[in-house]
Amino acid sequence: MPELPEVETVARDLQRWVTGATILDAAVHWARTIRHPQPPERFAAEIADVTIRRVTRRAKTVLLHLADGRVMTVALRMTGALIVAAPGTPDDPYARVVFRLADGRELRYRDVRKFGRIGLWPGGGLRSVGAGRGARSKRVAEGGGRYRIGEVFSGHGPEPLQRGFTAQRLAERLGRRSAKLKTLLLDQSFIAGVGNIYADEALWRARLHPLRAADGLDDGDVRRLHRTVRQVLREGIANRGASFSDYVDGAGEPGANAERLSVYRRTDQPCYRCGTRIERIVVGQRSTHFCPRCQPGPVGSDPR
Ligand SMILES: [Zn+2]
Repeated sequence: MPELPEVETVARDLQRWVTGATILDAAVHWARTIRHPQPPERFAAEIADVTIRRVTRRAKTVLLHLADGRVMTVALRMTGALIVAAPGTPDDPYARVVFRLADGRELRYRDVRKFGRIGLWPGGGLRSVGAGRGARSKRVAEGGGRYRIGEVFSGHGPEPLQRGFTAQRLAERLGRRSAKLKTLLLDQSFIAGVGNIYADEALWRARLHPLRAADGLDDGDVRRLHRTVRQVLREGIANRGASFSDYVDGAGEPGANAERLSVYRRTDQPCYRCGTRIERIVVGQRSTHFCPRCQPGPVGSDPR
């Protein structure tokens, strides 16, 4: 599943390639891909004849900012991809929505498993992002309605690569929570964009066991975690994302970060720091990989 570095890579590709492009029309081949507005015919009518002004990312979602102020959101979820296709590129049977551009290219939303969602929202309110908590976002997810783009993301936590995300801010947030570190890093209302790969990588680098309680960390632990979360995300972006199955960039090419990971999916292989075999446990139904020697378990508990 694409996480922050993968989605950021797609957004940067599109920023370079489709900024200034005009969408002539959209063909919706899978109605459920369209989250808002409903029905999909209305989405297609509203997206026709608009120009893309810039492309950014919030959490794990690509944001296409349109010249008229509205914002199109593309949540890739499990297998979604946004690919710019040159004129004459053969049709893709997994393209769920195809945006025809005025210059002859197509922006294709490809999604084998069809979990991804596309929305079109009025602009405004993005400054308040990260300030709210889950309730409002849940209503949006269920009902759609007349929400502005900022409210779509009101349930999301801070962006870990933003300047305002300091070790101090992380310490304040962790200190109020007794949840396990792995669970908390995956919680999008706690911190936006981190998923299974980068949570395991950050914890290994910080030498923190995934089952440690958030409020049990000392100042040094928090500073290390703050540094390693940002490191693994930045390196993921530099390597254009990690491709294990479906993730591809805006050109349809896989990223190079999967083979550079230290612990994720390295079960039974030697730890790069100490040679101990990497172990795999399940935390909150998610595979979790760690070194039992470098990442000692919570005091007084079985680390497995
Ligand atoms: Zn180790």
